[in-house]
Amino acid sequence: MLLKPIYKCSICGKYIEEPVHCGKKAILLLDSKRRLMLSKLVSGLLRHYPWEIGISLDREGWISIDDLVNGIKTKWKNKHLYQWVTREHIIALAELDPKGRFEVSGDRIRARYGHSVLVRIEYEINYPPKLYHGTSISKLNSILKQGLKPMNRLYVHTTISKSDALLNARRHGTPVVLEINVECLRRNNIPVYKAGKTVYLVPYVPPECIARVY
Ligand SMILES: [Zn+2]
Repeated sequence: MLLKPIYKCSICGKYIEEPVHCGKKAILLLDSKRRLMLSKLVSGLLRHYPWEIGISLDREGWISIDDLVNGIKTKWKNKHLYQWVTREHIIALAELDPKGRFEVSGDRIRARYGHSVLVRIEYEINYPPKLYHGTSISKLNSILKQGLKPMNRLYVHTTISKSDALLNARRHGTPVVLEINVECLRRNNIPVYKAGKTVYLVPYVPPECIARVY
């Protein structure tokens, strides 16, 4: 994963991925390396292990941004790598996330999807024309027999982007991309929730709704 650096415009104050804004050189806020390490840490804390920094999420997954920053700087096991973090870094990271992983509301933040800790987030039901899911060839047989199940997450993660599905699949071995028949899900009264810019969540995909294997 290659992430662009994040800059802050010195004139209008916007967070941007270009080094120039409003006709002026912008201030570097997060270089690519820091952006990636902070993104991974915040995703992990808000989805899987908030207790590692002594915080707990509310029922809908929210946590105060200040508590998150303080927890990272005082309680995270590698806190020495994160002493530079401020609330501004967290807000910029959330605003510019390419997949819409995070949501900021007032002084709180949450992950939009991907939780293994139990949270209740209200998503909008949205059936896009096509959905894809990346997996590995070793899981294919059982998926074609039993369908797609959430495993250790709350939902099956799917995407409208075939290339994102392929990227996900590559992380698990010999990649396979499944095309899901969305009309079939609708016929079976299985809801599809829009969670991020390209990410859609489904409680279950029965085998008959898997349209193609790439
Ligand atoms: Zn500007």
